[in-house]
Amino acid sequence: MGNKTILVTGGSGFLGSFLCEKLLERGNEVICVDNFYTGAKRNITHLMGNPHFELIRHDVTFPLYVEVDEIYNLACPASPIHYQRDPVQTVKTCVHGAINMLGLAKRIRAGILQASTSEVYGDPMVHPQVESYWGNVNPIGVRSCYDEGKRCAETLFSCYRMQCALPVKIVRIFNTYGPRMHPNDGRVVSNFILQALQNRDITIYGDGSQTRSFCYRDDLIDAMIRMMDTPDEVTGPVNLGNPGEFTILQLAELVIELTGSRSGIIRQELPADDPKQRRPDISMARELLKWEPATPLREGLARTIEYFDRLLKEDPEFCQ
Ligand code: NAD
Ligand code: UDP
Ligand code: UDP
Repeated sequence: MGNKTILVTGGSGFLGSFLCEKLLERGNEVICVDNFYTGAKRNITHLMGNPHFELIRHDVTFPLYVEVDEIYNLACPASPIHYQRDPVQTVKTCVHGAINMLGLAKRIRAGILQASTSEVYGDPMVHPQVESYWGNVNPIGVRSCYDEGKRCAETLFSCYRMQCALPVKIVRIFNTYGPRMHPNDGRVVSNFILQALQNRDITIYGDGSQTRSFCYRDDLIDAMIRMMDTPDEVTGPVNLGNPGEFTILQLAELVIELTGSRSGIIRQELPADDPKQRRPDISMARELLKWEPATPLREGLARTIEYFDRLLKEDPEFCQ
């Protein structure tokens, strides 16, 4: 609950900035650490005047010495375009970043939560994905810097738990969307909404039959905080996401309907190693966190469309 000092790495990003906001609302002191690789100052400017909020520009691949009660480790580029731009840095952020944050947690005996990903399942052979599934990941493909980096981070979290009795938590986040997604990170929801709002063609990669399950940001952050608040023996990994599963074509049609756009749909080449289907089994989150997503896709998309509509008017350059 409130009155703790909490470190959020990646705190100026899409999810991190909203997490900082929620933790402040609960009465905590928040230290946001970010190197602004994919994050944006505009995501946290509204928090800068808050005396309980502190920003440190820092790269987590280097050691960090602060005194806090809890650590949420979110620092890492999350979209394929961003994490593939500098794959070596992505691996370093996942692995060295995890080592440094775990070393910090060990020294100060702080609880630490890792933002892992559904990408640890790769192109899954088990559907829907359950936490006990070990995954189907290419170790040397274009997505490997992220997938294997995140898998190694999970290994490090488990090793520190076993070897140093550190109270760690791992959540595996499935595709999440909402206001403050980066307009240029190429993720499907932001791409489709920006294309629709500007009546440009909607770009479907492949035939659009691949599926994803989309979770609204607010639901996800609620679950993440619930996970941190569980007793020490709850480690996870726990899947967090919305089990509603949609094809990419269905998403395109829904975005066109909700924006009233005149956009057409065009097909482009499917990127390498693009998972064909993805849906979380969230039984574990339901049981351990007494949580399930409350926001239907239509409603979450409507709020996200509102955000991008405003952003296009207020800061068109940021959207180019
Ligand atoms: P984001 O790119 O908006 O946020 C990541 C933040 O980390 C940015 O502010 C970036 O500047 C910062 N960062 C990157 N490298 C850093 C470094 N070396 N040192 C310090 N800061 C660094 O992405 P997001 O969607 O908010 O994702 C947050 C976390 O959640 C990531 O760890 C991501 O892997 C995980 N995740 C997100 C999703 C999703 O759908 N959004 C799904 C699965 C997992
Ligand atoms: N570390 C850090 N902040 C701290 C304590 C440690 O950034 O407050 C870093 C430290 O630089 C080290 C890493 O965390 O590289 C792992 O620390 P650990 O104590 O596990 O390992 P060791 O220092 O023995 O290599
Ligand atoms: N995608 C698409 N058009 C776009 C962007 C993405 O068809 O403009 C597809 C992409 O190929 C993938 C799905 O949408 O099958 C989700 O892509 P995203 O990059 O958002 O996330 P991830 O692949 O990491 O789940």
